[in-house]
Amino acid sequence: MANPEQAFAIMVPFRRTPMIKALTFDLDDTLWDVWPVVERAERLLYQWLATRYPRIPERFMPLELRELSSEVIAARPDLAHDRTWLRKAALQLAARRAGYAEFDVEAAFAVFFAARNAVEPFAEVRPALERLARRYPLASLSNGNADLGLIGMDDLFVFSLSAIEVGAAKPDALMFEEACRRLQALPEQIVHIGDDPIHDVQGGLEAGFHTVWVNRAGRDWPGGTRADAEISNLAELEQVLERWEGGQEAGSFLSVKR
Ligand SMILES: [Mg+2]
Repeated sequence: MANPEQAFAIMVPFRRTPMIKALTFDLDDTLWDVWPVVERAERLLYQWLATRYPRIPERFMPLELRELSSEVIAARPDLAHDRTWLRKAALQLAARRAGYAEFDVEAAFAVFFAARNAVEPFAEVRPALERLARRYPLASLSNGNADLGLIGMDDLFVFSLSAIEVGAAKPDALMFEEACRRLQALPEQIVHIGDDPIHDVQGGLEAGFHTVWVNRAGRDWPGGTRADAEISNLAELEQVLERWEGGQEAGSFLSVKR
């Protein structure tokens, strides 16, 4: 277990002074905790199935229902990036195996989707994004199926890009290239902010973006090229960007948090 003091007191090398034109954000686990919400959504869906299609919960435990997703991915790896499709296909498979020839998959998914979007952003998120949105266009780049309109945060972002729409998931360069195209900016003019070392940091760096690793829990860096900066919340992001824009420490080392 990392000592949080130590984990954040790192010196992060910074390559050069960027001219930052836009910011892109991961959503799940960057702006809110996603797992408690997904677990609750799965619980509500399970209860709904028990009422409408009781043979499904009779046949499958909640975890077994989740495991059906792996089976669906194995059959259609080309659609694995589309979490909405994946969840619907797994539900349809469950219904078929439980002996239902007719199954209202849209109604079942709607129960899950409403609960999945009942997220609670971390306390500093909205105030920080509101301030940042006055200085930069903000966009979201998500592998999940969060709906910023339902969440009530779509006013902060110029657009939201999902893996479903793009046809590939981060770390695939397609996501980042599409963001550049829509933001009309070069990769090196964009800072991507996210919690996932592979999807967000590796994917962003390989696409030529500047990257900021959001490490709320004080985890150790798992290896690979490090992000340009590491923060434990979005208020710290503002400090990082101010320093970069000021170019005070370009070419040297930047202490993200003392
Ligand atoms: Mg994430």
